[in-house]
Amino acid sequence: MDLKLSGRVALVTGASRGLGRAIALRLAHEGMHVGVAARDKASLDGVVQEITAAGGKAIAIEGDLSQLDGAEKAVAATVKAFGKLNLLVNNAGATKRGDFLKLTDADWADGFALKFFGAVRAARAAWPHLQASKGMVLNIGGVGGRTGEAEFTIGGSVNAAIALFTKALSDRGIKDGVRVLAIHPGTFETERFQKRLQTHMDTHKLSKDAAYKEMLKEARVARFGAPDELAGFIAMLASDELSYIQGSIIDMDGGQTRAI
Ligand code: NAP
Repeated sequence: MDLKLSGRVALVTGASRGLGRAIALRLAHEGMHVGVAARDKASLDGVVQEITAAGGKAIAIEGDLSQLDGAEKAVAATVKAFGKLNLLVNNAGATKRGDFLKLTDADWADGFALKFFGAVRAARAAWPHLQASKGMVLNIGGVGGRTGEAEFTIGGSVNAAIALFTKALSDRGIKDGVRVLAIHPGTFETERFQKRLQTHMDTHKLSKDAAYKEMLKEARVARFGAPDELAGFIAMLASDELSYIQGSIIDMDGGQTRAI
């Protein structure tokens, strides 16, 4: 199905690896020109090379998105390169897990600085461009924002804040012609997942297969997600065919979240 995204422009934050990388590759595959932003220049260059080798257009934007001007620079660089902006994917995020009593103020501040304030600042910088293009902000949250977990106090709080921010910004977007949506991913099999799997194997002295099965059982799902599934869904959401979807916060988690 032609999503009619060809020639449109996206900025994907946290696109050097994991979900962001998959999202950038998929959007480029749909014909979008893509700004890929993160800190690791070499990995970003790899993503850009992969896109250009397949005939697409992309630029690498190196920078720390937890810093005050990081998001603004990423938006400016994308618009400078491609002349407009149709889609902002706020994906960059890294929050520390662990015992609440051992997490420090700095851990909390870092978690919010990147994923929450980075998204807020990027949306603010992108807004006039998205208003002009009748574009969209897609915020990546996480299932931890819907179901509390003792070991994930920072990530869960950030993701819950992302969800409320999505609703509040969508309220403005209705007036300004900008769609604002969020997805709460469940567990996707990224590079980070492989590390979690390894930790599970080491901690519980399990084989890879047994650890994988136990993780599925803990999450009470039949399988975990593939990054390209999330990326494909975002491409669909960006299409005009789905333009009535506004302000929605969508769980994409294999059914992990049981709450209504
Ligand atoms: P990941 O593999 O750890 O990738 C995180 C991305 O963010 C990387 O590109 C990283 O690149 C970038 N990043 C980290 N710190 C940054 C900083 N200070 N400035 C700029 N970029 C920074 O994570 P992921 O698993 O793909 O997750 C992506 C998003 O989905 C996150 O928001 C995460 O909370 C959410 N999520 C993921 C899952 C999952 O199963 N994977 C589940 C729920 C929610 P550099 O290191 O190069 O900067």
